[in-house]
Amino acid sequence: MVVGSGATGLPAAIVAREAGASVIVVEVEPDIGGHAITSGGNVPLGGGNSAQRAHGIEDSADLMFRDLTDWSVVEPNGFPDYRYNDHEIVRAFCDHAAATHDFLVEHGVVFIDQAPDAHGGNAVGNSVPREMHCAAMGWPMVQTGKPVDPAVRATTSTGNGMMRPLEIAARKLGVEIMLRHRMVALHREATRSGRVLGIAVETNGTRFDVRARNAVIVATGGSTGNVNFRRMFDPRLTEEYCGLAGMPWSDQDASGEIAAMEVGAALWGLYNQAGEFGYSVTKPAAIGCQYNYQNLRWRPGSAVFDKARAIGLLVNDWQDVITVNMLGRRFYDETGRAFTTNNYNSINPYVQGSYLNAKNIVWNPNNWLNAAMAGIGDGKNGGGPIWAIFDADACVREQWVPEPPHVDRAAGFFFRADSIVELARKIVMQYQRAKMPPENLEQTVARYNSFVESGVDADFGKPTPLYKIATPPFYAAWATPVVHDTRAGLRINAHCQVIDMRGEIIPGLYCGGESAGGFSQHGLARATCQGFIAGRHAVSG
Ligand SMILES: Cc1cc2nc3c(=O)[nH]c(=O)nc-3n(C[C@H](O)[C@H](O)[C@H](O)COP(=O)(O)OP(=O)(O)OC[C@H]3O[C@@H](n4cnc5c(N)ncnc54)[C@H](O)[C@@H]3O)c2cc1C
Repeated sequence: MVVGSGATGLPAAIVAREAGASVIVVEVEPDIGGHAITSGGNVPLGGGNSAQRAHGIEDSADLMFRDLTDWSVVEPNGFPDYRYNDHEIVRAFCDHAAATHDFLVEHGVVFIDQAPDAHGGNAVGNSVPREMHCAAMGWPMVQTGKPVDPAVRATTSTGNGMMRPLEIAARKLGVEIMLRHRMVALHREATRSGRVLGIAVETNGTRFDVRARNAVIVATGGSTGNVNFRRMFDPRLTEEYCGLAGMPWSDQDASGEIAAMEVGAALWGLYNQAGEFGYSVTKPAAIGCQYNYQNLRWRPGSAVFDKARAIGLLVNDWQDVITVNMLGRRFYDETGRAFTTNNYNSINPYVQGSYLNAKNIVWNPNNWLNAAMAGIGDGKNGGGPIWAIFDADACVREQWVPEPPHVDRAAGFFFRADSIVELARKIVMQYQRAKMPPENLEQTVARYNSFVESGVDADFGKPTPLYKIATPPFYAAWATPVVHDTRAGLRINAHCQVIDMRGEIIPGLYCGGESAGGFSQHGLARATCQGFIAGRHAVSG
């Protein structure tokens, strides 16, 4: 039994089927793919795979392991990318990465025909280029409902190019994929002992049990969509952080973690989740819509556009807006970046294992996110909604069309008014727990305009504020931080077997991808590789 049809689930299902098992995949959504199908398709599998060899790149499992456990790596805010990983799990990844790449190719994934690089993914290690990119080919993109232009189908990287070929391969091999089926519980011989026997599933209001002869593989994709679960790691992440990247295609509702914990499983590598690096929480790139992650924009034509509701306005230059909190107050330089990843590479020279890497990195904390999530001093957790405030001139400079389907007025993620006072009054929506005092917003805009005149942001040091907010109509667009990666989850060993609170293997239970803990690597490489490991071990031991 494989639970979830994303980057972990489909490789696990195929490998298990080819090893001789009969395999059922249950998937809660009406289509396969999970976050993986919405992804950029950048896959940093290295380890000396066939693409690296074809381009004369010498890599090995040992070199990659050395890179991915380099204690000396820190981001410009001082956070060490690799320090809190479990070496057993990283080693297993390095040992199977090359084989996973070759497996993907053998099962129909077409990588863009170019030398591996280090663009787009993260936690890729620095010694040699390791990253490949899945070609979109002719499948309709989930973001648009249409295939990409044939002229660029072999050169555009998307997760579609990974997941549709894997779906075809799985179905051809006889893997049964049960869509719209939600795993709601795991069955074990006794609550805290014995084998895992199968799962309970819900579909269309009915519940039934499915027995697993060999094993259950939890490939449910993580927990950052579950408010209570994610707040175990970071209490700030209350309900208003509702723009999970990858939604509304699929959620990360922690159902895999919770079901496994109910039969005794432990969590692992928890510090990675709260660590200030990468995208576990990040700055939005588009504004005025609920789902505002930088690399995912939904268009009319997508099967989920009725849930996404708007495309969003992509911000090219944060000079064009100010960002204010629920009370209408600025809180940070709008051009401030989110947490970074792989930026240790900007130290020149970066030398693997050298104490100088951390010593020489230029300190740059990028605290827009921390300031946005700091709250308004009302004793409550969560920073509340963040609004980008701008005027008609900004729309001209950015070439924004501030109307549906670009913005989501109906659900309260975008407001327009002829004066700043009226704009503040209009901001009413489910997450705006305090009313925005109109005089606050009026003072904030006036003060900011004075900074534009003087050329100095006396409050937050924005580099030379450029544009006044002065030409009606005025706008308020949702610009609240986005949650994304899950980097802490169930404790697994090198075979992806789930481990309980006493440190013992739970027989018959496996996990990989974002629901598994112990390895902070973002994304597809870790997920596909752990699916590969789990699927094989579950059948062949
Ligand atoms: C916009 C975006 C861009 C990205 N770009 C990249 C990139 O370029 N490179 C990269 O390496 N990574 C990227 N990632 C991250 C990568 O897509 C994920 O890390 C990866 O897909 C995780 O794989 P997974 O199998 O753990 O989860 P998923 O791929 O999300 O699959 C989990 C599946 O389980 C299903 N499921 C959940 N709970 C249940 C349940 N109870 N019962 C049944 N089914 C269930 C879900 O519906 C989903 O289909 C990106 C992610 C996003 C959102």
